Amino acid sequence: MPLALFSKQKAVPDDNFDIELDDRKIRVNVTRNRNARRFILRVSAATRSVNLTLPSRGSMRDAHNFVDRHQDWLKTQFAQLPDPRPFAPGAIVPLRDTPHQILNVATGRGVVQISKTDDDLPTLCVSGDPAHLPRRLTDWFKKQARADLARQVAIHADILGVTPGKISLRDTRSRWGSCAANGALSFSWRLVLAPPHVLDYVAAHEVAHLREMNHSPAFWALVKDTCADTVTAKEWLKTNGRDLHGIGVTL
Ligand SMILES: [Zn+2]
Repeated sequence: MPLALFSKQKAVPDDNFDIELDDRKIRVNVTRNRNARRFILRVSAATRSVNLTLPSRGSMRDAHNFVDRHQDWLKTQFAQLPDPRPFAPGAIVPLRDTPHQILNVATGRGVVQISKTDDDLPTLCVSGDPAHLPRRLTDWFKKQARADLARQVAIHADILGVTPGKISLRDTRSRWGSCAANGALSFSWRLVLAPPHVLDYVAAHEVAHLREMNHSPAFWALVKDTCADTVTAKEWLKTNGRDLHGIGVTL
């Protein structure tokens, strides 16, 4: 069944265990995958945990040994992660590159509203149980990202005369956007934290792939035709992109 090769990783791991890394307890989630040929270790920036994929022949004892042998590698990976900045009352987080303070109003049904504090600082006012605030705010940011991206994708698609497929939002560290062969576009929701011209550039980049499925000079010419800020946006992501992955991370 070739389709099994493309099946998504299960949301619930098959097993887990904890390790100590630099005096911190780190959860290792273990997933078995009969298509895996080797052990695959990944660090999740969003949850500060480790995901280990085991081939079907691997035992839990092998899993422990494998993680033990890769402690130094894991330490380096964790040291490279941006500082976590959880969504919590009082925290200041960027929305379209403008700092907003998070406030919680315990009453209400969990809606998010933008208002201002007495000192004129824009606030993200989240109503409802504070225990649900991080998830509510993450959902809200994703909604904002979707709206901004859908609008910018439509603008660039119009200029380049292409029809984009479905837009989906992801939270991957490896890429800000991608374009599939069927025209489906996916983006990191974190782009809504960045300046609007940066989100606009990533939208233009992926839309241009609907004409040129490569990074040839012809592709870059298309991107520059439809997005004037290409150079500054790329530079911004190179310098600041990493920090965006610490925002909304709950330990
Ligand atoms: Zn590209």
